[in-house]
Amino acid sequence: MDQDYTHFESYEDLLAREGFRPRLEFHPQGERKMSDVLWPYKFLEKVNCGISVCRQLHYHGYLITTSDGLETGIGVDCGRKYFGLKFTRQRQRVDQEVARRQRIRAVKGMIDQLPAMVSTLAQIKADYQDLQDQKQRLMGAIGPGIYAALKQRAEKDGAKITRIVRLIGKDLEAYYATTNKPKGRQDDAPHREELIATLEGLAFVRARMKDVLITNLLEPLQALSKCKPDEVGQWKVRELQKTAKWVGEVPQNLIKVQELIAAGRRFFTSENIANLVHIGAPAGPLAQFVADLKTEEQKRTITAPAISPVRALDSFEEKEEINE
Ligand SMILES: [Zn+2]
Repeated sequence: MDQDYTHFESYEDLLAREGFRPRLEFHPQGERKMSDVLWPYKFLEKVNCGISVCRQLHYHGYLITTSDGLETGIGVDCGRKYFGLKFTRQRQRVDQEVARRQRIRAVKGMIDQLPAMVSTLAQIKADYQDLQDQKQRLMGAIGPGIYAALKQRAEKDGAKITRIVRLIGKDLEAYYATTNKPKGRQDDAPHREELIATLEGLAFVRARMKDVLITNLLEPLQALSKCKPDEVGQWKVRELQKTAKWVGEVPQNLIKVQELIAAGRRFFTSENIANLVHIGAPAGPLAQFVADLKTEEQKRTITAPAISPVRALDSFEEKEEINE
């Protein structure tokens, strides 16, 4: 399989081949047999099967060679039906080769993109360090017990902090006006739930930041940046398969990373951190952290806003367009 047969865009590409015939007689109508399966094709319009007794229409088929040196295109079901195991085995080998080439192309494409991603990746790394530092500081300020409670809250989607208040005055009158429950029993006195605060960015607390940012994205990209594109073709099947799969997930992972960083930024605001007293965080140790966050926020409103990771990605895309 030295030649590259990957560029069949339409049936005309097949017709243009010297030995190609749109219709051929095969054994038992003639002496002709199938020789090799060359390459698959997939067209936007249906084409006829090249086996003279078949002629069925199909979108997807295989270019084959014949015992007398000609070529034709046949559907996969016909191949199995008329040429049996010989066809099936060869077709599988060809399909594997197609998949291998697609994987090589995907991995090489990622390696080529890496230089344009450098600033985005550096920004992600800086955001990771910064958020990690803030998290350490928070854990120090509120202690492991409250942090565990916070994490539990994040996992249960408990952004809203509420408290139970007994109804009094007009609220109590209104309550009895709309219910027929008897008045005056102390143990189930009418009450309502009152919202004290809503915690922002709990997705940050919930996520495993190191896994999302470092283990699943930055580290493999860094490893890939050391690979030479020309050597990808020599990789072992499993390594190629694994890397190509991961490369396919990079766009989604980048979005996940940006979302997580954004959640972290929403979590570490002075207002949000101050609200942690409502879940039992000690006000004293938290005060300095909140004050420092406030100072940072004021600095940011005075000077130009910091480039967000999403902006960094935008500028990467713009840069790419200019290059093209
Ligand atoms: Zn057919």
